[in-house]
Amino acid sequence: MKRITSVLLVLLMVVSLMPFGAAAEKAEIKNVIFMIGDGMGPNHLEWAKAETGEKLAMDDMPVKGYRITDSLSGLTDSAAGGTALACGLLAFNSNVGTMSVSLDGHAFVVAEYLNLCEASQKAGKKTGIVTSDSNTGATPATFSAHAARRGEAEKISAQQLECGLDLLWTASDGIITESSAAKAGWTYIDSIDEIDSLDRSSKSLAQFSGRIEYDDGSGNCAPLSALTASALDLLDGSENGFFIMIEGAHIDKYSHSNEKDGMIKSLIEFDKAVDEAVKFAEEDGNTMVIVTADHETGGIVYDGSAKEWKFTVGDHTRTNVPLRVYGDEGMLKDGETIKNVEVAKYVAKATGLDGIPSFTINKNVIVDFFKALGDLIADKIG
Ligand SMILES: [Zn+2]
Repeated sequence: MKRITSVLLVLLMVVSLMPFGAAAEKAEIKNVIFMIGDGMGPNHLEWAKAETGEKLAMDDMPVKGYRITDSLSGLTDSAAGGTALACGLLAFNSNVGTMSVSLDGHAFVVAEYLNLCEASQKAGKKTGIVTSDSNTGATPATFSAHAARRGEAEKISAQQLECGLDLLWTASDGIITESSAAKAGWTYIDSIDEIDSLDRSSKSLAQFSGRIEYDDGSGNCAPLSALTASALDLLDGSENGFFIMIEGAHIDKYSHSNEKDGMIKSLIEFDKAVDEAVKFAEEDGNTMVIVTADHETGGIVYDGSAKEWKFTVGDHTRTNVPLRVYGDEGMLKDGETIKNVEVAKYVAKATGLDGIPSFTINKNVIVDFFKALGDLIADKIG
């Protein structure tokens, strides 16, 4: 009963907030490169630097602060974490660009959130996603789809095919087929060599057969830094600018399994991608680069007596994550810690996007929810 009460409270809270919308302000930034190191906490950076003896491009970015990561569920997962970054609104864990609740095993999408890709498209900008995860990974999904649960792979894929992105480049383990992509108007590729065949008018969907998280020297790789450079090249020159989300998903995956080598290689590759992004922004002059994470994974600490870095858990933690900014210094002060929902709001303000944050309440679903709740209560007390 306590759970039902808290669900009701959240529903009331959401309803009381409507109507809700943000107005655009003067834009100076044309392009946004939004980079997410999934699971990347501050000590991931320290461990990588200690191991390699080299500095990171992320550390050269002019503003270095932190971000709180909690979702409506408390300790966040990548779906609610991505939703906060993509939409500037909190959600429950597993929610993808929505606020959804479960009752008796049934999911109700109470509200759909507008994400930064959608808001950018409305402003006439080109949009893209590049990730080392599959297309239905929680982070890319929150920038391109709306679902009650992150596991709804078919629903998420179907929406992504129609979501208006100009570029969706992922690992090959998704469920989108070449024919379904072609039918929806995409140019489909599966190797890095085929990128040369694309031009700026192409709408490209890639599921790379080779490793993306880092170059293992096998000759069959599509490393994230190379994909970043190519994607930026294709989006460059868009009349109204572009928004792209680039994710290094394996920092999280290797941290879950406490695999130090894989984690560090993935983090270094992600940092190379950051370097490409900042170089692009330096040359362009109207581009903002944001680097952050959705949450920390692995609970990395320095063990003073053993004089070494180590993982302490195999899951996510509530550690505040790094937030680095290039190209617009107004988001936060150096060393400051801000809330997870503030980043998307700031991006919208800096680039003049309407509607971040905003959401559409699904009134019929609320009616259905209360009907189901009534049935459940009648069933329990009858
Ligand atoms: Zn994770």
